Amino acid sequence: MDLIDSWVQAKDRLHHVCTVNPEMLMIAQQDVNFRNILKRVDLTVPDGVGLLWAARRIGQPIPERVTGSDGVPRIAKEAALRGWKLFLLGAADGVADQAANILRDQNPGLQIVGTYAGSPKWEEEDRLVDMVNASGADILLVAYGAPEQDKWIARNAPRLNVSMAMGIGGTLDFVAGIIPRAPLRWQKLGLEWLYRLYLQPWRIKRMLRLPRFVLAVLRRGAN
Ligand code: UDP
Repeated sequence: MDLIDSWVQAKDRLHHVCTVNPEMLMIAQQDVNFRNILKRVDLTVPDGVGLLWAARRIGQPIPERVTGSDGVPRIAKEAALRGWKLFLLGAADGVADQAANILRDQNPGLQIVGTYAGSPKWEEEDRLVDMVNASGADILLVAYGAPEQDKWIARNAPRLNVSMAMGIGGTLDFVAGIIPRAPLRWQKLGLEWLYRLYLQPWRIKRMLRLPRFVLAVLRRGAN
């Protein structure tokens, strides 16, 4: 939070924060553009129990998961205290608005200066950038799912006048209460991914990347 505050105070450029999970790492193996983005962002945080396992396995343990879904309410809380202005971009029509109302109720004084669904299509890009810049936001939270949201941020970073931008995947759906988060017990057992699969079975296609991630880590460990 202090790091974010230093960026907001400096107002010098956009700082890109990326919450990384195993699926994204596997996409980055094949997508050189995304791989370069991950290498260049200002801060990556481990969003996904698989990363903690992999880090332990290769002898560079990471203390804990830092997820977008936990991070956004924390950022909103700090924003209300420190006066950061937020813009919520993405999710289905009306969801960002609903999430904004809930975050404002939870954090009196919170300034959410804009919400908009839109889409990551290039045709919409100029309009979205103008909208964000006109809002005077300090922090832009982009809910278009990975890797599109991070590509969108990276592509538009030079012309966005915000101090920090972060891709937040399905977080607005959680905040708005449209999709429930896994119970804490499941989260503590490292099974949040299984709960999401149970709620959204179509995720299985994306999750088929996970066994390949495990294999890649095991292979690396053996070297
Ligand atoms: N989304 C969107 N426009 C798009 C594609 C996705 O607004 O063109 C939103 C979608 O409504 C959801 C989020 O992006 O709120 C992606 O959520 P998902 O659960 O897939 O992301 P994850 O948390 O797995 O990264």
